[in-house]
Amino acid sequence: MPGSPAPADKSTAQPGVQRCINSSCGATFGLRERIYVCARCGETLEIDCGVNARVDGRALRDQWASRPARRAGSKAPRETSGVWRYLELLPFEPDAPFITLFEGNTPLFDAPRSAEYCGLRALRLKHQGYNPTGSFKDTGMAAAMTQAVISGARTAVCASTGNTAASLAAYAARAGLRAAILLPRGQVSSSKLAQSLDYGALVLEIEGNFDACMRLVQQIGDEPSVYVANSINPFRVEGQKTVAFEIMEQCNWCLPDHIVVPGGNMGNSTALGKGFQELLVLGLIDCLPKLSVIQAEGAAPLARLFANLDGKGRGRGEHLPEKLDPVENPQTLASAIKIGAPISWKKSLSTVLRSGGQVISVSEHEIADAKAMIGRDSIGCEPASATTVAGVRKLVAAGQIHRDDGVIAVLTGHALKDPDYMIRYHDGTLSFALDAKEASGPLRPLGGAFRNAPRRVAANKADILSSLERRQ
Ligand SMILES: [Zn+2]
Repeated sequence: MPGSPAPADKSTAQPGVQRCINSSCGATFGLRERIYVCARCGETLEIDCGVNARVDGRALRDQWASRPARRAGSKAPRETSGVWRYLELLPFEPDAPFITLFEGNTPLFDAPRSAEYCGLRALRLKHQGYNPTGSFKDTGMAAAMTQAVISGARTAVCASTGNTAASLAAYAARAGLRAAILLPRGQVSSSKLAQSLDYGALVLEIEGNFDACMRLVQQIGDEPSVYVANSINPFRVEGQKTVAFEIMEQCNWCLPDHIVVPGGNMGNSTALGKGFQELLVLGLIDCLPKLSVIQAEGAAPLARLFANLDGKGRGRGEHLPEKLDPVENPQTLASAIKIGAPISWKKSLSTVLRSGGQVISVSEHEIADAKAMIGRDSIGCEPASATTVAGVRKLVAAGQIHRDDGVIAVLTGHALKDPDYMIRYHDGTLSFALDAKEASGPLRPLGGAFRNAPRRVAANKADILSSLERRQ
């Protein structure tokens, strides 16, 4: 058919195997095997799509360039989805039952005010909150739900701090699967909870935190009809890695020096790192951008581990620590990254080290002000996303990022994911107890540098005009 994309070249990369990330194990499993960790050693799995130097990267790049990001009127997933347009590097056959809600194809914004705030000449923000359910989870969920259908599952489950739940609920509904979601009761923003309910998911509120929900999901995963869609799921990483390809196309293949992402369960940094690594193997980039992960101070187990790595550990990521000390009671108002035992920490750390990036943490104050600054750039995001701009500012101050460097920060969720946070920041009632022991005691107010509270005004023209003058 004229105008259709060329079929995938079978000599390229598809479809692949699931491989244990433990190099001393290296067990491989077929793509159809419904396992989430290595059956031999229990370590996490990643998918090897056979990306190697024999694949013609330039031909692939030209093929993507000839495929419009979004063809008007088309219903073909490869012409409408920012995930499926990169099928050549994904572990799916061309006739797979692709699940899509038009994910991906998200904007890369210039953010001049945030750049100045950080001490940079320029800063770009890749906004994954422009996905169908308002968060970066959608690109991975398109791939995971497609795999769930292929595997014959009837129910998809996940533990979530909110965004994964909303995404799973939407994509499971689109795939004709039941969705069951385990949430920590009272710890999820009402907007995210509302989304999951609206998409028809069974929402199960658990007494406990996210990490407790995660342990329960791993137990439920033994059931034959159940498909686990948490970030441990290697197919989600495959969907999310396409963001690296999309960034490079948007940069016209001019490599940024730094990519900065928030750190929660660490699936996002893992996926971006894998995407860039594959582009490197294909010869489409000459080196990796430095990938840095920013955590909230009260939920920063990886930043703590990173700070204690010796020179040998930091080298090339070849001597990774065996264990991560979890944070028992993670505390942050950035609920999307309120995770004390990130499941993909090892993959993420190895990716960061290989790229020469950093893992640091930022305070609640820094997150809140950075978020307001992103808002001043007409962009907006949820609190977790703002760790990136707060982190960039800190890395610039520390001399790790230079004023003229090319920097892209990845925003992971839409501003309307947590409107309550914004209202409280601007009216001056945002407060926080960093110490878990203090959580039930008095809260410390987070005074914002960029507060913009609503003002009462009398219902007449003269008072309104005088308010406008005062504002100037
Ligand atoms: Zn293994």
